[in-house]
Amino acid sequence: MVLVGAKRLASISVRGVVQGVGFRPFIYRLAQEYNLKGWVRNTSGNVEIEVEGDEETLHKFLRDIETKAPPMARIEQVKSAYYPPKGYARFEIQESLSQEGKYQLVSPDIATCEDCKREIFTPSDRRYRYPFTNCTNCGPRFTIIEDIPYDRPKTTMRKFKMCPQCQQEYDDPLNRRFHAQPNACPECGPSLKLVDSDGKPLSGDAIKATSDLLKAGKILALRGLGGFQLACDATNEEVVNLLRARKRRPYKPLAIMVANIDEAERHCLASSGEKELLQSPQCPIVLLRWKREPSDVAQAVAPNLKYLGVMLPYTPLHHILLKETGLPMVMTSGNLSEEPIAKDNGEALRRLKGIADYFLLHNRDIYARYDDSVYMVEGVPQAIRRARSYAPYPIFLPFKSKQVLACGAEEKNTFCLTKDEHAFISQHIGDMENEETLEHFADTIELYKKLFRIEPEIVAYDMHPEYLSTKYALKVGSERGLKLVPVQHHHAHIVSCLVENKIEKPVIGVAFDGAGYGTDGTIWGGEFLVADWKNFNRVGHLENVPLPGGAVAIKKPYRMALSYLYKLFGGDFSLKGLPLSNVSPIELDIIKQQIKRGLNSPLTSSAGRLFDAVSALTGIRQEIGYEAQAAIELEMMAPDETGKIETESYPFSIVENEKARIVRLSDLILAVVQDVRSQTAVPQISLKFHNTVSEMIVRMCKLIAQDTGINQVALSGGVFQNRLLLRLAVAALKKEGFNVLTHRLVPCNDGGISLGQAVIANFTSGE
Ligand SMILES: [Zn+2]
Ligand SMILES: [Zn+2]
Ligand SMILES: [Zn+2]
Repeated sequence: MVLVGAKRLASISVRGVVQGVGFRPFIYRLAQEYNLKGWVRNTSGNVEIEVEGDEETLHKFLRDIETKAPPMARIEQVKSAYYPPKGYARFEIQESLSQEGKYQLVSPDIATCEDCKREIFTPSDRRYRYPFTNCTNCGPRFTIIEDIPYDRPKTTMRKFKMCPQCQQEYDDPLNRRFHAQPNACPECGPSLKLVDSDGKPLSGDAIKATSDLLKAGKILALRGLGGFQLACDATNEEVVNLLRARKRRPYKPLAIMVANIDEAERHCLASSGEKELLQSPQCPIVLLRWKREPSDVAQAVAPNLKYLGVMLPYTPLHHILLKETGLPMVMTSGNLSEEPIAKDNGEALRRLKGIADYFLLHNRDIYARYDDSVYMVEGVPQAIRRARSYAPYPIFLPFKSKQVLACGAEEKNTFCLTKDEHAFISQHIGDMENEETLEHFADTIELYKKLFRIEPEIVAYDMHPEYLSTKYALKVGSERGLKLVPVQHHHAHIVSCLVENKIEKPVIGVAFDGAGYGTDGTIWGGEFLVADWKNFNRVGHLENVPLPGGAVAIKKPYRMALSYLYKLFGGDFSLKGLPLSNVSPIELDIIKQQIKRGLNSPLTSSAGRLFDAVSALTGIRQEIGYEAQAAIELEMMAPDETGKIETESYPFSIVENEKARIVRLSDLILAVVQDVRSQTAVPQISLKFHNTVSEMIVRMCKLIAQDTGINQVALSGGVFQNRLLLRLAVAALKKEGFNVLTHRLVPCNDGGISLGQAVIANFTSGE
């Protein structure tokens, strides 16, 4: 028999991001609301609570902990146990309890909340137009933390002493700035300084002057949360082109920031899922379908593309600037081409000189570099670049992991450190092709090790001997006597997809990307694996073709077109009627020789290169200005969906040798050549080609399923950023009864590799 109204004591432990996010005041208010007595306190690992009340009220209290938690809290686990009551007289917030060796999750930086936004736009408020306004529900976290526990002296805010008013807010449990470590106001907090490109200060209101300069068509370097952003008027074709020239970024799309969701919809189509993501506390860049008419955003922002990277303001400074200029702004990372984002004032003045006309500096130091995150929504949000507001929140592993450092790949590098059930994937580090990025990589590894108390025993790395991340792993691993585990690139892709979907059993892995080092010395990239967390078997792949001239063939897709033609049909193949006439007879001869004799022409089964070849063959793109440009523009040429799935496709065949099944491509290439010669519309060729690649995937998967009885398919690799191919392949596989796994939390591109490496190393490193 349950005694109605009988009092009990609930002892509750909450794990996750629950410190520095207004969690204790939330519990305090909740306890008041339900008239419960007891206490709440932080420990080194958790938040602990004891409350007394009747059972029904305690149940409601427990439910509300999960459903009404403050916006920045991320609850991983709530444990509760019941005891006889102790007779507490009131509810209180107790002193923190520190426990040796425990660690806590660190909150990412979060976009300005509605309450703070209201304050900065209220003329009578003491934080009116104050660009560093924040509270426990929003503002900087990860970018200012040097160590845990998360207290002001361990952040870059320590040099600002709070004024009495700020201190009062900080000390009041019912205030939304209770223990808000970055709390500040114009009296006591950080401030802005506008300088010209020589570092000479400009007088007057820095924000007003910045707005005026932006409206006048100038390029500004703005110091933000995790580094500098370069900003300019996105409707001004001339300044956008100037920014591209100075940044040495001729084609790669730039992101824009717009004032609010209505503005976003003025320029782009946005589904409800896309709108939700745009307005989320994470506030990432979301790739939206661009309405070129009637949008007045300059064509040069995203040349030849259907999608526009759009984000909403996520700092008070952004909100004020967007409002006061009334313009959509280009907002792009403050760096030159492939270097890491600049974060310090002096560094920016040095590195961005010649790019920015003026610099809006501030004096709140940035500890961790942090680029904007990029997402697309295909049914569900999918990460393309995981950085601001996502890292360092971990991916939860479906097992307890050893402490592993996985060094990731070369392009779009991230690393991953594991401990317990946590995989701490770093924020986007960048392309590891220069010293600056390598240094950023090494520094960030040390920061994560310190924050999460991780001392790796195993180091995982890509098999490619020339990757800087591989060289780092070998050096550090041997210096510190750690166990070294090489991991095959495409195996890592597939396992990253398996782990985030919490699938342990072997699957058919389709790994389509540009390039990854194969175990047979060739370059892989159109792979069909049977894989699990431990092992893989390469059961199929696209036909090998030479990469004439090596890396130069990636920059010049026409070389790939010629490679397919000459490899598959011989050196006498006529180029008549094909858009390859720009190639000089001398270069043509060199390419033929390279292919014939295998000179500097490694073999590749890359799906990315097949897209490049078709893009060049159809005259879409012969040389590229950014990674995958030819393939992306080929995708963009396909006609918009009409609602029905297109069924027309090109022929291809599948053969089997003793090792694997091979997709033979000569029929496909010849059919494309015929379509080009007969002047079939390019959009039709593009759609037919996409259908064909989708069919390749399905037919191969069906054969592999017959061999193995596996009906689960994981799609990974950068090629699956191609939304048309992804949609076609997922639909076609599902139609055949396959269960299809795709990425959501980590990118399908090489930014997700480190997660797969870490898991594989954990399971193959021996006992
Ligand atoms: Zn706030
Ligand atoms: Zn103050
Ligand atoms: Zn890859």
